[in-house]
Amino acid sequence: MNIHTRETLKINEKGHLEIGGADCVELAARFSTPLYVFDEAYIRAMMRVYRETIAREYGGNGCVLYASKAFSCMAMYGIARQEGLGVDVVSGGELYTARKAGFPAEKIYMHGNNKLQAELEEALDAGVACVVVDSALEADRLEALCAARGKVQRVLIRINPGVEAHTHHFVQTATPDSKFGFSVANGDAARISSHVLSLPHLELRGFHCHIGSQIFEKDSFVLAAEKCLAFIADLKASCGFVCEELNMGGGFGVWYAEEDRMIPPAGYAEYLSALIGAVKAGCAKYGLKQPYLLIEPGRSIVAEAGVTLYTVGAIREIPGLRKYVAVDGGMFENPRYCLYGSRYTAILANKANEPAAERVSIAGKCCESGDLIGADMPLAHAETGDILAVLTTGAYNYSMASNYNRNLIPPAVLVREGEAEYIIRPQTYEDLTRNDILPARLAK
Ligand SMILES: *Cc1c(COP(=O)(O)O)cnc(C)c1O
Repeated sequence: MNIHTRETLKINEKGHLEIGGADCVELAARFSTPLYVFDEAYIRAMMRVYRETIAREYGGNGCVLYASKAFSCMAMYGIARQEGLGVDVVSGGELYTARKAGFPAEKIYMHGNNKLQAELEEALDAGVACVVVDSALEADRLEALCAARGKVQRVLIRINPGVEAHTHHFVQTATPDSKFGFSVANGDAARISSHVLSLPHLELRGFHCHIGSQIFEKDSFVLAAEKCLAFIADLKASCGFVCEELNMGGGFGVWYAEEDRMIPPAGYAEYLSALIGAVKAGCAKYGLKQPYLLIEPGRSIVAEAGVTLYTVGAIREIPGLRKYVAVDGGMFENPRYCLYGSRYTAILANKANEPAAERVSIAGKCCESGDLIGADMPLAHAETGDILAVLTTGAYNYSMASNYNRNLIPPAVLVREGEAEYIIRPQTYEDLTRNDILPARLAK
């Protein structure tokens, strides 16, 4: 039986899939489908594991920033605030959403490889903790804006330590080809550091790096930390700069399908421990003061907390080739298969005890042949009207959704102790045309 049974998911006595104590078949009946469902307890458990690991192993000298691009909505900022986290934002829209939810600006870090002038102004006006600088242009723009406002802004510089990590492996890149960050290897990171240090309205606090996402290899985090500390030591030797803050980004992997490691929330402490161990060891090796440590997990906090529920529609069997099970969602609410060929696990929520009898492709309803939620997925025998649950859809699904084909972006509910409530209400057709303008000459 190919079900991912853990604290968030289980099969109840009716043989229905449950998430966070709520019956998925009942959720589908009450809220309709497609529907994003999030388990609040799982989200909070993940946030606590990271926060407590920093408290225990690094004397609390650090902060967990929720990488809000994974799933940004006001309720998520509310949970992060209650759990004592900070957040990172990468756009004016994410910043606006966080602020509207009452998230304190002094715990917001502003990212982005090409922040717009307007976004920099919004960040300064809000009073964010730190801007993570990713280009000389941005440093100069920020300096001018701060000078005009008579204020000094704390900044980090995004560096590229030359470690690039993917799901199950990592590579060290000598000449990094990335749109993000200043390369340590070619001297860019040292050059931008002296430039920023020369700007009177920017206070350089330290460095940021983020080596990738969906990473299961502890060694990749360890190597990245070692390389960052070697760079920080070199810079201290060459210009006396003392690094106060080190932000090691996110990237911890999650379980999507058979080939992935299944890690319970408590297990993520090991990943962070390995990273913290490397930071401490590097500081000891080079005689550096231990910097304030930040991490930015996004996916690992929210991905496994989420499932998407669909209703099965048309079923098309092409003998000897493939069976398509069409659902009422698709690339407009989960574009990850189309973007990356991502793999997922699906289960019929109303027949959760039935063994996966066949392999099917789950098709969306968009006008694209490539519009699949997944190909060749093990599934019990599906019939029209069944409720299909796709697991591990909490991250990078809603946040990447669109209105392609003028489909409505599904609503989201948050489940707590078996009770569900909307955190994102359903869109309406009126929402789709709200910003459309029909010039009078085209209306006749
Ligand atoms: C995407 C991103 C993260 C979060 O990565 P996850 O894999 O979701 O944990 C953190 N920091 C930065 C700068 C990012 O771009």
